[in-house]
Amino acid sequence: MKAAVIREHGGPETVRIEQVSEPEAKPGEVVVEVRAAALNHLDLWVIEGRPGTKHTYPHVVGSDAAGVIAAMGPDVRDRSVGEEVVVNPGLSCGACEFCARGEQSECVDFGLLGLSRPGTFAERVAVPAGNVCPKPAHLSFEEAAALPLAHLTAWRMLTTRADLRPGETVLIHGIGGGVALAALQIASLLGARAIATSSSDEKLEQAARLGAAHAIDYSRTKDVAAEARRITGGRGVDVALDTAGAATWPIDIASVRRGGRVVICGVTTGPTAETDLRAVYWNQISLMGSTMGSREDFRSLLETVSATRLKPVMDRVFPLDQARDALERMAKGEQMGKIVLGVSGSIRGRLSQEEIA
Ligand SMILES: [Zn+2]
Repeated sequence: MKAAVIREHGGPETVRIEQVSEPEAKPGEVVVEVRAAALNHLDLWVIEGRPGTKHTYPHVVGSDAAGVIAAMGPDVRDRSVGEEVVVNPGLSCGACEFCARGEQSECVDFGLLGLSRPGTFAERVAVPAGNVCPKPAHLSFEEAAALPLAHLTAWRMLTTRADLRPGETVLIHGIGGGVALAALQIASLLGARAIATSSSDEKLEQAARLGAAHAIDYSRTKDVAAEARRITGGRGVDVALDTAGAATWPIDIASVRRGGRVVICGVTTGPTAETDLRAVYWNQISLMGSTMGSREDFRSLLETVSATRLKPVMDRVFPLDQARDALERMAKGEQMGKIVLGVSGSIRGRLSQEEIA
């Protein structure tokens, strides 16, 4: 079968389209015929290579996918060949204390499709049967593929972790990113008010269209925390949602109200930040980390997406053959929304968001 693979680490230019061996459905697994696969920044990190990760080459990259079940291994129940599914890329051992609690993303052996086993930028991918859920009926395969990693991450951050309530205010940094955009959509669904930040007028306009109550241009606003406080009448935001790390963490601490919550899932601007601990204890701030989500988070996300007919924000769809171009677009940060690969002949040529809508 055809797949986008790496044989060495580097930039998007190291990604090649090659014929690789077919995946096999081992006991408890299904093989999904991939109709669409979505890009995440994680793919660039996998391609660059993280210390301590070892791959079998050629390594198939990609974490997000939607498709059709093509084969089932022994011991798979409640699924059927031909079923349209969306793939949860989080991999867990199923045996540790944290898996037993149903907290799969806290698993001692937590991994991801495309990182710890062959990924989704391929015509077919084998995954544990517990990692597939029925595709929401109102979504195309391209839209469904765009959901898992970004929306699951944002969903767990705002619901399971930060327990965002209707009427609360949430500060969301860097609104062009996949998780930030997903968080903006989910915050609106939950009846919360979002304050979005970006340095791009275009991205801030898009944030307003998606329901952001306020937008802060951090290229022009020197003190984002002071602006967030001004917007909230001096009180501070209830929740700060951070995917950026070093650059935004001090802003989070200075922006949240007394008893507020800071939730973080990534460090795109760096892993080390200073914390004014006086503010943490005096203002009684809760600091929370979050990674991906549990199977229950994924199930409840998809249920909510179906009930509210939420659609992810789509940037562009490329054919699988142009995976390298798609990754280069993401590396440049040009996108607004999810970049998706059309696989299995479902997409010919490049389609814009309007064309696939
Ligand atoms: Zn486990």
